[in-house]
Amino acid sequence: MRELHTVHHGPSCHDACCLQIRGLSVTAEDADLLKDVDLHIHCGQIVAVIGPNGAGKSTLFRAILGQVPYTGEIRFERAGGRRTRPLVGYVPQSPAFDPGDPVSVLDLFASAIGRWPVFLPVPRALRVMVATCLARVHARELLDRRVGTLSGGELQRVLLAMALEPLPHILILDEPMSGVDIEGEHQLMDMLNEIRSSYDLSILLSTHDFATLEQYADKVVLLKQSVLKVGRARDVLASPEFRSVFHLTFERGDA
Ligand code: ADP
Ligand code: MG
Repeated sequence: MRELHTVHHGPSCHDACCLQIRGLSVTAEDADLLKDVDLHIHCGQIVAVIGPNGAGKSTLFRAILGQVPYTGEIRFERAGGRRTRPLVGYVPQSPAFDPGDPVSVLDLFASAIGRWPVFLPVPRALRVMVATCLARVHARELLDRRVGTLSGGELQRVLLAMALEPLPHILILDEPMSGVDIEGEHQLMDMLNEIRSSYDLSILLSTHDFATLEQYADKVVLLKQSVLKVGRARDVLASPEFRSVFHLTFERGDA
């Protein structure tokens, strides 16, 4: 098993940055999408949020992004206890592009980060900048490919490169494994591991793939409207809360 090094594991955040979520609730049409969520994430950690469909994983991410109204507190502290507004990078859940779409990776990137119109030729300096961004995720060779022809894993890397420009404090990926095969999944997780070591940012992702959790996640959060269990993968996956949420039953003697 690969060794993970985590920048910070201690209960105090004084010497490292962290994201603190306290009593977070989101309601829509009188239903609780999230209720009293408490979460503490240190910089340098990879945190996986698991839970059934409708558990509120995407809603939690949207609240952190400031896209849905919420009550409670979402606070980001830099080393030394300074509070700031964090930059959040976001990779959305499997967006689809038409295979016939003429837009290239360069066009997409340039319009997103350089605010350059998709229908105009991209200036040389912007092309160099986009190539540098793609190199962060070892995807320099995808620069002139049409987005509609990319595989799930390749598209994932382009979206990841876009989310890393400008370099965020918190990187959020909503179900990055969906539409990616097992090989692509390991590549993606290796890359996220590299990114968090190189740039000291927190990575928050949702997933339904429990097999890779122990290898890559420093912390696993079992969510179903509230946080039902949080801890190391092994402990969360072995918990009664996990079994109950996923309706797992064991024969006597299996446990
Ligand atoms: P997950 O990502 O865990 O599958 P979501 O956060 O997408 O869950 O959704 C949680 C619940 O909230 C679902 O039942 C969904 O239908 C509902 N929901 C999401 N957004 C809204 C909204 N804007 N208004 C009403 N209900 C919503
Ligand atoms: Mg979701």
